Amino acid sequence: MSANHVPETFGCLVFNDKVMRERLPEDAYSALKNTIQIGKKLAPDLADIIAGAMKDWAVENGCTHYSHWFQPMTGVTAEKHDSFIEPDGADSVIMEFSGKALVKGEPDASSFPSGGLRATFEARGYTAWDPTSYAFIKNETLCIPTVFYSYGGEALDQKTPLLRSMEAINRQALRVLRLFGDEETRFVHTNVGPEQEYFLIDKQLYNSREDLILTGRTLFGAKPPRGQEMDDHYFGSIRPRVIAFMKELDEELWKHGIYAKTRHNEAAPAQHEMAPVYTTTNLATDGNQLTMELMKKVAEKHDLACLLHEKPFAGVNGSGKHNNWSLSTNTGVNLLDPGNSPMENAQFLLFLTAVIKAVDEHQDLLRISVAGAGNDHRLGAAEAPPAVVSIFLGTELTEILESIENDTEYESKEAIQMKVGVHVLPRFPKDNSDRNRTSPLAFTGNKFEFRMLGSAASISSPNVMLNTGVADALMQFADELEAATDFHATLHDLVKREFHLHKRIIFNGNGYDDAWIAEATKQRGLLNLVSTPEALPYFTHPKNLELFAKHKVFTSAEMFSRCEIMQENYCKVLIIEARTMLDMAQKQIFPAVTAYIKSLSETVQAARAIDKTLCPAEADLVGRLSALSAELYARIGELKVVLEKANDQAGAEAKSKFIRTDVVPVMRALRAAADELETLTAKSYWPYPTYSDMLFYV
Ligand code: ADP
Ligand code: MG
Repeated sequence: MSANHVPETFGCLVFNDKVMRERLPEDAYSALKNTIQIGKKLAPDLADIIAGAMKDWAVENGCTHYSHWFQPMTGVTAEKHDSFIEPDGADSVIMEFSGKALVKGEPDASSFPSGGLRATFEARGYTAWDPTSYAFIKNETLCIPTVFYSYGGEALDQKTPLLRSMEAINRQALRVLRLFGDEETRFVHTNVGPEQEYFLIDKQLYNSREDLILTGRTLFGAKPPRGQEMDDHYFGSIRPRVIAFMKELDEELWKHGIYAKTRHNEAAPAQHEMAPVYTTTNLATDGNQLTMELMKKVAEKHDLACLLHEKPFAGVNGSGKHNNWSLSTNTGVNLLDPGNSPMENAQFLLFLTAVIKAVDEHQDLLRISVAGAGNDHRLGAAEAPPAVVSIFLGTELTEILESIENDTEYESKEAIQMKVGVHVLPRFPKDNSDRNRTSPLAFTGNKFEFRMLGSAASISSPNVMLNTGVADALMQFADELEAATDFHATLHDLVKREFHLHKRIIFNGNGYDDAWIAEATKQRGLLNLVSTPEALPYFTHPKNLELFAKHKVFTSAEMFSRCEIMQENYCKVLIIEARTMLDMAQKQIFPAVTAYIKSLSETVQAARAIDKTLCPAEADLVGRLSALSAELYARIGELKVVLEKANDQAGAEAKSKFIRTDVVPVMRALRAAADELETLTAKSYWPYPTYSDMLFYV
């Protein structure tokens, strides 16, 4: 694709607003627009008209099939294809697509996790069209974004709670805006720009590693002689093969209406990043899901494998996803932008305070929203924020809030005592020079950057938590302010009080420092939920059940089932990893080492037939290899025993905790023995490509 074709091909595979306006009758278009923007119900006859227009467009663009595209709790997307063909009674077919088929589908979904919500006699989930997200074409198939729910109406997917949480924050934010005299705004939505990190390695090398194929990460592998210590990869020149991949990826993303904007290398060798321009949270979530699919697909075409796992290589930086989050009105006003006048500033401070309160009160939920077996390897390591949630505000903004809290003078040019709604805030630079990259949640001028997300997971859950938590804070603020007789005085006192109550969550220092973890947990009483099994049980605490019920985001039944699904997912991932380790260690590593020992021993034997003092090094190596393979063998046996025990645990919570405390350490010990063997074994004998092979040769 040449550069001047980009604008005309952008979004060519998307049934977007432009296509809708062109192809739908006036009334259908405006009704649909109302549904998209303010959630107004769509009349059934209009669904038929829209389905017909979608089908015509899709068929003209080469589609024979349609699919309800949805995001189950497994983190990947799912789809079931149906063709448009209908027999016409005269031995031929017509292409048909009804409103009913558009609006509702019934995939045979008994294999998707439901955490006990779908009774076995009703082993079926339903998909329903989500008109807020555009339909698109993928593999000659019209993909219709849908939500996925059980017979009883309980959400079984990532998308439903996200849409509900967007409604919740819209309701409360509108109340707040009205208090500030805004009668114009019709709706408020949250925006997200998710920055996606990934690794690219050679496909042939990938194919020769059972661990990468089955688990997405290397379960064995000695540290390479060179790691990322040269710091030369980030913004380094991108290699030709990778450039070719990125070029095609951008083109694919653009055709799918995803605003791919920046691409660069990341800190680790073979690691890269793609950032799109931000958009509404639901579109960004679908877009990110599609981006991950397309990354894998485009990589294949270039004989590459795209690794989205949070930690594909031990000892090398893992991959995350930065979730840049903001709130804006339908007229495009960013509510996290400080603005210029005292009133705009006051409104900004109130929204800011709502975020501070929400994050402090729901540290557990934010932590849970990024929990998972893969991300457990990253959080708290050198490449990602710690498991303790905190907010970076920057010194200037923190000082302003402190001056409000303490009724003291703010040390600005005109040393004044900050009064909310009276004084003008100084302009803080958007690109903070003391920009802090170690903070879990950083305020970056007009948005919050949530940096704890792992690279592989959907961005839905973190945004559900942010939206719902902030909605709840805004609800409490609106309740209080609506009842106030003196709006300004109440507003000032509210910001002052809430900042005082929740300022412990603000930390502008180095989040990677051990001293911070000690301070956070001991002095500030912040939560430090270091692993997924430790974090998940918090999900169903009464505070959280109440929060989500109040804002109609989750019912209790949905929460208990979700918690169980997350615990089961964790167990499944680790059990597959452990079994894969056993397979590799027994069938490939152990035999390879034995063969090498045999060859060395034969050499020693032959030489010593001539002279008994020959080959001391070979003989010594045989001794070391043999001791290490005995260690490997012992760990294999031990891992089998603990895996059996894991299966005996009653319930998903107990099992996940047992795996964490009893299985993971044995996996580590097994790996340590194997990795040591790798460093001592001749390359020609080692059955797998090494870290150097994978990381430095694309
Ligand atoms: P970086 O963090 O790498 O320096 P930027 O801050 O420019 O880069 O942007 C990173 C991401 O944040 C991009 O996806 C961008 O679209 C998104 N972003 C920028 N402004 C907003 C906003 N107001 N709301 C949400 N996301 C935003
Ligand atoms: Mg960033």
